[in-house]
Amino acid sequence: MSKLTNPGFVTQLLSSHGIRLRKKWGQNFLVDENILIKIVSAAEIECGDHVLEIGPGIGALTRELALRADRVTALEIDERLIPVLKETLAEYDNITIIRQDAMDVDYPGLLGDKPVKLVANMPYNVATPLFYRWLKQHRQQFPVMVCMLQKEVAQRIVAKPGSKEYGTLSVVCQFAAKTELLFTVPRTVFFPRPEISSAVVRLRPDAATQYDVGDEAVFFRVVEAVFSQRRKMALNTLHAVFPLSKGELTELGAEADLDLARRGETLSVAEFANLSRLLYNKTAV
Ligand code: SAM
Repeated sequence: MSKLTNPGFVTQLLSSHGIRLRKKWGQNFLVDENILIKIVSAAEIECGDHVLEIGPGIGALTRELALRADRVTALEIDERLIPVLKETLAEYDNITIIRQDAMDVDYPGLLGDKPVKLVANMPYNVATPLFYRWLKQHRQQFPVMVCMLQKEVAQRIVAKPGSKEYGTLSVVCQFAAKTELLFTVPRTVFFPRPEISSAVVRLRPDAATQYDVGDEAVFFRVVEAVFSQRRKMALNTLHAVFPLSKGELTELGAEADLDLARRGETLSVAEFANLSRLLYNKTAV
């Protein structure tokens, strides 16, 4: 068993480096060996793999990744943790630790053009914006993503049309990837314990259903517009955003076999895709 999952050892390690953990960076470390193994198993890491980890913390997950992958790149925002990681991961020569905010990284510049598996116990405050960015701009780079998230965000990722969790995040994730909520994780497996429960999701851009949306920028605009007023008729929200009359939009809806008098929150990913393609064809110059 690794010392890094022993709360007593973690307390000592942090105090020997004079570190008090910061809530704003979601510094709740996993101290349960089984959960660590379940996360790395879900990523199906093979010996030739390059893995990107966001927020290595004190290195418990990083170590498990380094034992299985060819190499691991880990981005950590907190400079105080860099000397800690140098100490805890000293025996592994296949890990590169970079002190950087994951929100500011040029991913292709850092990782090159080969596929990289993304595995993380995510800092919760940046999880949603990072998912948008990875899935909209870099999904060719990340064929598989296995991430621990706030349970509520994990539920939004896999939510079905018409449910209260279903929204922009659900549609963007389900458009760009095959999405699975693998298991939930109790607060007790973290040190210190967070206030909320967590869950592990797997997103597979490499197994996504292929939708013809015409143009992705239009697709994302349609989705955002519709969910900005999710309980309103899709017709009214689209009319406010696209230069088409309500009559033209209703006709377009009919072509997509879609009644735009429905509430936006009930549209499926396939319906958003059809609508986007027709809107793109109609409004493109
Ligand atoms: N991987 C460790 C584990 O599983 O125990 C730590 C996970 S902890 C939930 C999140 C980590 O992300 C912390 O180490 C925190 O300092 C780091 N972090 C927070 N915001 C970050 C950001 N924007 N970019 C990179 N790392 C960040």
